[in-house]
Amino acid sequence: MKNIIFIGPPGAGKGTQAELICKNYGIKQISTGDILRANVAQMTPLGISAKSFMEKGKLVPDEIIIKMIKEEITKPENSNGILFDGFPRTIPQAIALDNMMVELGMNLDRVLLLEVPDEEIILRLSGRRICRTCQRTFHIVFNPPPDPKECDRGVCDIYQREDDKEETIMKRLAVYHDQTSPLIDYYESKGKLVRINGVGSLESIYDLITKAIQNN
Ligand code: ADP
Ligand code: ADP
Repeated sequence: MKNIIFIGPPGAGKGTQAELICKNYGIKQISTGDILRANVAQMTPLGISAKSFMEKGKLVPDEIIIKMIKEEITKPENSNGILFDGFPRTIPQAIALDNMMVELGMNLDRVLLLEVPDEEIILRLSGRRICRTCQRTFHIVFNPPPDPKECDRGVCDIYQREDDKEETIMKRLAVYHDQTSPLIDYYESKGKLVRINGVGSLESIYDLITKAIQNN
């Protein structure tokens, strides 16, 4: 069983790599951003309380996120191992996760930090596009979406996330440096952190990640 945390700035490639890793290791991805966006789309009570924070590029309050993770982590389909993508994002979230793992007898294998400079993040996020049908992530230049008719789950319906507009990108980057980057020291002091250069081809980064997981 493998439990892995992915940290890194928005747009570092966490979601892109998570899909490949989960397929390879047979573990499940828990992306707090994806869960929140699905709740916003369905206008659930969770979505309604999260929406305004997300639109502004701010973090959704810790207590909402922690409650959400508590529900996810105990689902039977996640018992083979979890790849946390986009969580934790604050020190209180990390402490809450530590406590949950102790309670549930889960081990944290690795924390992978995908390092990408801000200039590259701006290019990646401003060109990011998502398919509404199959949820895959593309980039208008670096990883162009397929012909609309070739989407494997019907016709691709490509859109740009509201928070991937330039002004919100800058806010999200500032939030990352301010509230999420303290997690780097937190996990480094626990001996769990591995730094991965997140600039390069998808394949070369994937190789670095699998080596980091295997050297556990
Ligand atoms: P990205 O993939 O670009 O890093 P995410 O999809 O992870 O972005 O997150 C989108 C938004 O959802 C964030 O800007 C924030 O508002 C909210 N969010 C996602 N995960 C968390 C979390 N762990 N804590 C607080 N807010 C979160
Ligand atoms: P995150 O989940 O960390 O927010 P994503 O996986 O959504 O990041 O990637 C952000 C954008 O950058 C997407 O448009 C994706 O296609 C693109 N991308 C991902 N990895 C790379 C890479 N190694 N080189 C160039 N672009 C990339």
